[in-house]
Amino acid sequence: MMISKSETLSRREALNILNLPDEKLPELLEKVYYIRKKHKGNVVGIQLLTNARSGNCSQNCAYCAQSHDSDADISKYKLVSYDKLLRDGLTVKEKNLSRHCIGLSGIRFSDQEIDELADYIRNLKKENSGHICCSVGFLTPRQAWVLKEAGVNRINHNLNTSENFYPNICTTHTYEERVANIKMLQSMGFEICCGGIIGMGESKNDVADMLFAIKRINPQAVPINFLIPVPGTAMSRIDISHLSPEYCLKVLCLTRLLNPESDIRCAGGREVYLKGYEKMMFYAVDSIFASGYLTTDGQSIEDTIKTITDAGFQYYIEPV
Ligand code: SF4
Repeated sequence: MMISKSETLSRREALNILNLPDEKLPELLEKVYYIRKKHKGNVVGIQLLTNARSGNCSQNCAYCAQSHDSDADISKYKLVSYDKLLRDGLTVKEKNLSRHCIGLSGIRFSDQEIDELADYIRNLKKENSGHICCSVGFLTPRQAWVLKEAGVNRINHNLNTSENFYPNICTTHTYEERVANIKMLQSMGFEICCGGIIGMGESKNDVADMLFAIKRINPQAVPINFLIPVPGTAMSRIDISHLSPEYCLKVLCLTRLLNPESDIRCAGGREVYLKGYEKMMFYAVDSIFASGYLTTDGQSIEDTIKTITDAGFQYYIEPV
């Protein structure tokens, strides 16, 4: 199997990776591991995610349990208590996790809401000076500045899928608005976390398009989620039979090859689709979540650490 020495892939090579016969996967993994090791060593960072505002979103993202159109049985609240946020922040510190990610449902926020969040983050930073990432919809420049000043290091804003496929997953905002928001944040000096979701009915062409678009953004982190269809969402009955461990590994390998220096994170769906394949997953991936996702459960912190060490990797404390 050919992979250019320059570590840059053509679109045809990218599609070849997604279409690779399963028996060729060990060869791909070996090549990808060489690149992963060169840029990231043998370490895996663990992130903890706090769902700081849940449900009641005005948007209609078809995969999301928090969307306006979802009947999913989730808890809904405006802004989580500061005590809960602090508890999670202290867990990140005590367990030497690498990042505390704070996600808020919604797409646009009032200045007052962002000021309130900024106050939380300012206080949190006094207790745990580690890295804080926020996933917080479309910010205005003023709001982004307030969060930056409060100590947010990195902002997550996913593309989720390709530009072409985007209208199939959401019609209340556009792909272009997402790209514009990311560019604005980058111009203000934020680090960017930008990834997507696999398994929403997109083609392999769409996966390649999304991954090339992410490469052009050049984010510091690329979270790849594998869809878990949640009852009550528009995608509750979507066919996910193609999400074999082998296909998921090929997507993660391609993500690493296109973004060799970024944190490649296997996010939602890891515990479902890659159970038993963790060692191979870490050949491409250097970052995972512990303790679950926004609205779905995941592996405990202790089990996550054990998963990393059992696979022969080290769990990582990112220097501040
Ligand atoms: S993904 Fe975000 S913007 Fe879309 S429905 Fe869910 S919370 Fe709202």
